Amino acid sequence: MFDANDIDWDKGDGLVPAVVQHAFDGRVLMLGYMNRESLAVTLDSGRVSFWSRSRGKPWTKGETSGNVLELVDISVDCDADTLLVRARPKGPTCHLGDDSCFDGRALAGAATTGPGLGFLAALDRLVEARERERPEGSYTTRLFEAGTKRVAQKVGEEGVETALAAAAGDRDELLDESADLLYHLLVLLRCRDASLQDVVTRLAARHG
Ligand code: AMP
Ligand code: ZN
Ligand code: ZN
Ligand code: ZN
Repeated sequence: MFDANDIDWDKGDGLVPAVVQHAFDGRVLMLGYMNRESLAVTLDSGRVSFWSRSRGKPWTKGETSGNVLELVDISVDCDADTLLVRARPKGPTCHLGDDSCFDGRALAGAATTGPGLGFLAALDRLVEARERERPEGSYTTRLFEAGTKRVAQKVGEEGVETALAAAAGDRDELLDESADLLYHLLVLLRCRDASLQDVVTRLAARHG
């Protein structure tokens, strides 16, 4: 574990850049600067706080908009001069109303919008949490309580629906049914003590 004293505060005159990443889907949300005080405030309050260079004062993200960033964890980079903050955003992170400050602002290459494939891994972790915690009112909880056979049957149905949508050439329906299939497959794997990670490992091994 690192602590605040391990951070190289001198390099940037007491400020270090802090990259904020969506804890659930891995998207980069924004970049801010932290000093010792904003790091301490962030750790104490669980709300991501910065030093505003333009306003010259401490600033908790969301203090006026309400779009706070709930802290999940913080890492330092290899030479301890940059922070990676994983957070759960409550609303759009960019003050222009976008989820991410980098949304739709490609300077080179294609603009990457949307959550990316990391979202599947995050969904897998959510399914795992649902199995452990069994919150009431959750559809995933109900699937786990219905048992492996029922979930296996759902995967079969969604697989057939996916195939039919593809055969009919209905792209929108194909995407919906594929989403159903992937989600139910994650739950089925979990029922048999397996995970998406195990499947990806198999796929990668075949790749040689
Ligand atoms: P907020 O922290 O969301 O209440 O917004 C207060 C002010 O902070 C805004 O009017 C912007 O000047 C600034 N601000 C908010 N979010 C960002 C951001 N993601 N990047 C840079 N400045 C921001
Ligand atoms: Zn570095
Ligand atoms: Zn922004
Ligand atoms: Zn379906």
